[in-house]
Order: sequence, then structure tokens, then C-alpha cells
Amino acid sequence: MSSTSPTPDHGAGPAVAVTGVTKSYGGRPAVDEVTLDVRRGEFFGLLGPNGAGKSTLVEIMEGLRRADSGTVAVFGESPWPRNTRLLPRMGVQTQSSAFFVRQTVHEHLRTVAALFGVEGAAVDATLEAVGLGGRHDVRVDSLSGGQRQRLAIASALVHGPELIFLDEPTASLDPEGRRDLWEVLRGLKARGRTIVYTTHHLDEAEALCDRVGILVEGRLAVVDEPQHLIGTFGAATRLLVPLGRIEEDRAAALPGVTAVTVQGGHLVLETRATGRVLAALDAATGLDGVQTRTPSLEDVYLDITAGRRPRTPLAANNQEQQA
Ligand code: ADP
Repeated sequence: MSSTSPTPDHGAGPAVAVTGVTKSYGGRPAVDEVTLDVRRGEFFGLLGPNGAGKSTLVEIMEGLRRADSGTVAVFGESPWPRNTRLLPRMGVQTQSSAFFVRQTVHEHLRTVAALFGVEGAAVDATLEAVGLGGRHDVRVDSLSGGQRQRLAIASALVHGPELIFLDEPTASLDPEGRRDLWEVLRGLKARGRTIVYTTHHLDEAEALCDRVGILVEGRLAVVDEPQHLIGTFGAATRLLVPLGRIEEDRAAALPGVTAVTVQGGHLVLETRATGRVLAALDAATGLDGVQTRTPSLEDVYLDITAGRRPRTPLAANNQEQQA
């Protein structure tokens, strides 16, 4: 964002290297033996159900929490204890980002920018980029939830950091706000920044991330490119057939159909042999009104987090944590 932004460092080594990190609360591991590299210039998504350990892991990477065991290196240096050399290189938006609530939007961001010695032009540019260009004079305590979220993101970006951590940045944004933020994030990536973010929006992770890691109960189940994950896991295609067109038993007996359920006004046929099942359906009932839903990252995610598939290494760059 800032015209004085440091040039991204494309030096050797990953932006973040996490090795065997464990963190427990009351004897219960929140993060369990996680090993993970985030590459420089990468857009990395950390996914998982509530309580899976995402925030804990991200905050350990940021140097805000201390791991019980294992190591973290950010640009080759430990972020813990507080490492002032790393602070200008990192931008952090957490779930509980702090605000100067009695200040206006512009004053707040100017104050944050001043902490980093960043000039005023970066403040205007950053507010514009996150869609708060018209809100300069609004007091922070009068902002809506979505606007506060934008300001928290602006506060993480204003000093032009190389490595940006965002914890559910689109959680309280409306659909237009989400799409706008996607463009901001894509722009940052295009300028060589590294982005680590958490989200519950699987469509968003699929659209934005170079790689995603899925945490389940503190363990990293998989790390992979979204499209590769979808292909390798062979999630089923769903064919939606209007109810009444074919009986459930008959549909289940079609060669290639692996499951049949009723959802809404449709019989949903799951298959990994889409062409064959479509041909059989065509012969049986015709294809009028039949809809095809190709597998998405969400399907794979739901399979993995529900433990319906074995968590085996899927590719050379995957990480699998052993018990
Ligand atoms: P996520 O971000 O995936 O929702 P969290 O990292 O917030 O998961 O939490 C992981 C687990 O650690 C949860 O069971 C949560 O209750 C627990 N936990 C997180 N922070 C603390 C804390 N400060 N004290 C005690 N337990 C915590």
C-alpha cells in the first residue's frame, strides 16, 4: 500500500517455517505437532472447523503466542520472544484487533502508520484500497462491523508489509465487500507479498489460495493446491434430478452411482463416472432439468473434516502429521 513499502525479499527459504509445533491448553493440544512451510509470495489458506487450532497456529507464527515445543522461523528468524526486526515486515489482523475508538477512521490509521514511521499518503491509499475512502471523518466507534473489519485490514496493510496475516478477514463483510477485498488481496499477491489467512469460506479459499492447509483437531490433515486436492481426493460429482423423475432404488442401481439422497426438490446422485451415469439417466428419464454439480474444495473439506476419508499423504508437497 505504502509508497515507501519495502521491496519484497525473495531471498532463499520460506517466508514462514513451522516445525513440529505443539501448543496445549489444560493438557489438551490445540495445535498438535504441526509442520508447515509458507513459501515467499504464496497465498496460503488455513482452513478447519471452529476450535481446530487455526488462530492458535497463526498467532504462534506471528509471535503473539509461544509454542510449547517445536520451532517457528519467519524470514529465517524466530518471532518469539517479540522480535522488533520482524515487526515492520509483518502485517497482522487478528480476531480481536484493537482500535482507537474515539478517533476518526483517518486519525486511527494515521496513528497506526506513525508507529511504523509511514508517511500520510499511504493512509489515504490504504483506506481507498479497503473501501473506506469515503469514511475518513467517521468515528471508529460509529463504524458497522464490516467497516471495522476493513479498518482492521487497513491497519495490517498500511506499512506495506511483506508478510500479511489475516484471521477471517471476510467474516463480517457482505458479498460485495468480500469481492472487493479479494481484489485487494490479489493485488497484494501480484506485488509479491506473502499472505497467510484463515477463512470459513471455502469458495473463497478455492478462488484465492495457491495452497491450503486443513487443520482437524490441531493436526494438519493435508496441505495442497485446491485444484490438486479436489482432483486427488476424487470427490464425487453430484447430479441433481428433479423428484418424481426416477425412483430412488432405480437411481441407486444405475452403474456408477455411489450414493443417492433426497435434498430439497431433488434426488441427488453421487458419482465418479459422470458421463456413464448421465447416459444412463438420459436413457431412463431424459436429462431435462438435471443439474450437474462438479466437486469443489468444500466437498473435499467436508470429507476430510468429517473423517470420511483416510488422511494419507496426497502429494510430494503434502504434510501429514503422524500420531
Ligand atoms: P480456531 O481458530 O480454529 O477456531 P483456536 O485456535 O481458537 O481454534 O482454538 C483451538 C482450541 O484451543 C480450542 O479448543 C480453544 O478452546 C482452545 N484455546 C484457544 N485459546 C485458548 C486460551 N487462551 N486458553 C484456553 N484454551 C484456548
